[in-house]
Amino acid sequence: MKSYQTNNPKATQALAKKLADLVYPGLVVTLQGDLGAGKTTFTQGLAAALGIQSRVKSPTFNILNTYEEGRIPLYHFDAYLLENAGAADQGFEDYLGTDGVTLIEWPQYMADLLPNDRLEMTFTRLGEGESDREITVRGIGQAEEIEEKLD
Ligand code: ADP
Ligand code: MG
Repeated sequence: MKSYQTNNPKATQALAKKLADLVYPGLVVTLQGDLGAGKTTFTQGLAAALGIQSRVKSPTFNILNTYEEGRIPLYHFDAYLLENAGAADQGFEDYLGTDGVTLIEWPQYMADLLPNDRLEMTFTRLGEGESDREITVRGIGQAEEIEEKLD
């Protein structure tokens, strides 16, 4: 596992830009952390680094937003509202491990659909301040190499 600290949104997005250089079609990245921890901020940095110019916001009500205009497709899930509904039978599998990179906020609510090979990230607020975050990265299976290459 690798661990980073950022103290502003731009620094979190700079880490996302480094990850953007390493992503490949089929990669699944899970983003765990409480509301306001920085998951969407991170996704916005990754999207920008892929060349996506649309405004990226949490797909809270539609669960999934897709962006096709970057270097590779970006599939952005926010599974928060699936907590009670469950994730089965909605066609989400079509976006996991296919032609794009998939980022998933609240992955615990899609646990049954997650591939074993994935990059797990956690976002944690540190202390009383508004802006210090700890971000951890753990690659599993094929994604181990990404963890190794991130500096
Ligand atoms: P989440 O998607 O996890 O609910 P957001 O990315 O939507 O969180 O919100 C994070 C909020 O915290 C934003 O308002 C952002 O500007 C602010 N923020 C402050 N410091 C940081 C930081 N170091 N990294 C990411 N976001 C930060
Ligand atoms: Mg969010």
